[in-house]
Amino acid sequence: MNLEEKSVINAIMRQPSMVDYPGHLAVLMFTSGCDFRCGFCHNVDLIDDWNAKTFSFGVLKDRLDKYREDWVKAVTVTGGEPTIHPALPDTIAFLKEQGFLVKLDSNGSNPEMLEKLMPMLDYVAMDIKCALDHYPQFVKYNNLDRIRASIKLIMEQAKDYEFRTTVLEGFHTTEEIVAAAKDIQGAKRWIFQAFVPHDNLPDPAVRTLPRTRPSVLEECAKAAAPYVELAKAR
Ligand code: SF4
Repeated sequence: MNLEEKSVINAIMRQPSMVDYPGHLAVLMFTSGCDFRCGFCHNVDLIDDWNAKTFSFGVLKDRLDKYREDWVKAVTVTGGEPTIHPALPDTIAFLKEQGFLVKLDSNGSNPEMLEKLMPMLDYVAMDIKCALDHYPQFVKYNNLDRIRASIKLIMEQAKDYEFRTTVLEGFHTTEEIVAAAKDIQGAKRWIFQAFVPHDNLPDPAVRTLPRTRPSVLEECAKAAAPYVELAKAR
């Protein structure tokens, strides 16, 4: 690998995280740009800028060498949506060459890219935003066959994986969760996480919603439990 070449990573979280890679302390690396438009997106600064400046592989190597000294063994690549970048496989291959476990976060819109990456990935976390029929309205995304293809691919080929849903009170009703459950029936793991309000979220109507209560996350997990191997609030 030519260390002068650019990776697709445009930001790296300074402190390793205990919550972004199950069971491991992980470095969080971000890519820019996203093909969804979720009203509750927390990475709004990233989603419109598909061509943000990125780090060279040399810079990534320096950072990874330091993290390795701190006993960090895993990297989570997140976005934006990492799979919109055609050069993503080179970056994932580089992270693996450096000896790290690699988790990819994805919205599932690029099954071809996921298939290419699958042999290298140790863990895949795919968002299930809501029941697939509601994607066009909820996240402004219409190509549901692509989402279905990613779900199937992950369930059949991922070494380890989770589906995950950010729960908005009032929208993610029990009926919504049961409808979404039917889209991922038989999955290994489905995680429910809290929505946290913020004043720069893309949808002004969402900015004033409350933070999701733990009891609501538990209700979602309970509604999902009959359909998957493990349903859990995080
Ligand atoms: S898929 Fe993720 S990064 Fe993209 S708009 Fe939705 S929440 Fe934001």
